[in-house]
Amino acid sequence: MQKAVQLSSLASTLVLAEHEAGFIKAASVSAVVAANSVSKDNSISVLLAGSGPSLQEAAAHAASCHPSVSQVLVADSEKFTYPLAEPWAKLVHLVQQRGGYSHIIAPSGSFGKNILPRAAALLGVSPVTDVIEILESNLFIRPIYAGNALCTVRNTGVDPCMMTIRSISFPVPPTSANSKSNVSPISQVDLSTFSEDSVGKSRYVKQTSQNTERPDLGNARVVVTGGRGLKSAENFKMLEKLAEKLGAAVGATRAAVDQGFVPNDLQVGQTGKIVAPELYMAFGVSGAIQHLAGMRDSKVIVAVNKDADAPIFQVADYGLVGDLFEVIPELLEKLPEK
Ligand code: FAD
Repeated sequence: MQKAVQLSSLASTLVLAEHEAGFIKAASVSAVVAANSVSKDNSISVLLAGSGPSLQEAAAHAASCHPSVSQVLVADSEKFTYPLAEPWAKLVHLVQQRGGYSHIIAPSGSFGKNILPRAAALLGVSPVTDVIEILESNLFIRPIYAGNALCTVRNTGVDPCMMTIRSISFPVPPTSANSKSNVSPISQVDLSTFSEDSVGKSRYVKQTSQNTERPDLGNARVVVTGGRGLKSAENFKMLEKLAEKLGAAVGATRAAVDQGFVPNDLQVGQTGKIVAPELYMAFGVSGAIQHLAGMRDSKVIVAVNKDADAPIFQVADYGLVGDLFEVIPELLEKLPEK
């Protein structure tokens, strides 16, 4: 059992990072940015796990992704080839026992939401989820009631203070990318005490991904979203064409996903992805509170709906009352080919 230590004024933060093809995912770099705002004397370690050469490439990327990263801990083992929650949670437990961090931060995506609560249970602490602002090292703001209210949370528990952060609230400054200022040696986490039973009840089955050149929904500058008003999977192709012309990602409402128009990884909202692009275009979307929870922080919102009373118009910067089956073809015709 972890020895209880009161929150210390000197912060040392462990960031759980997800990597792919030799790079740290953007949401994990945002977690480093969040760690950097915990305290000005914060010492930040990034924890990476996986196997094979791409892990070493990702470690090099982690070491240079932000000037405040002081250490990259690498767990190189076949147990971590896929980010399964049970071995990862035990790894976090092991690393915390060795490092005695004051804070542990993960991004709020499926990676962090899967691992962090389990690791928190092993460490006997209550995590704070979906943090959007760090006021002090133990004082945070997070949304509640599907984003309709903000709650200020003070962590009065023992170390480590564990949290998931919403990456859109911690944008990565362009200058910090590729900075090599504080590159430190990569140390190997000693996995000798890591027992075989760390491989738990979940197992990796397969990974499927859309072969698309469109940007990732979570980080796209422009998102075009379709709702039930699109009426069919076939009609969504019209939206995909529009996305291609605009260099946008495609999103969807839960109703559109439930109808089988698109896969559920495109869902935006309370139980889907949280996005905050420069431009969010919603076609045939009513604007239910659960959908707004995932996109209301977008910089400019454009809505096209044939119902003038649709709630989406209450959050839209530009609204067009019209039939999407006329508006989208007209847009496609007027926009130049990419
Ligand atoms: P509808 O509400 O049916 O709206 C369709 C809209 O299309 C209407 O406004 C209609 O006027 C318009 N339309 C129809 N035809 C046309 C046309 N030809 N031209 C222009 N406009 C047209 N929803 C999410 O999106 N994301 C979530 O994460 C989510 N999580 C949920 C969690 C919980 C616990 C619950 C209970 C619900 C959740 N929902 C979520 C569902 C949510 O409540 C709504 O049911 C859903 O968002 C509605 O999707 P929609 O706007 O596509 O469909």
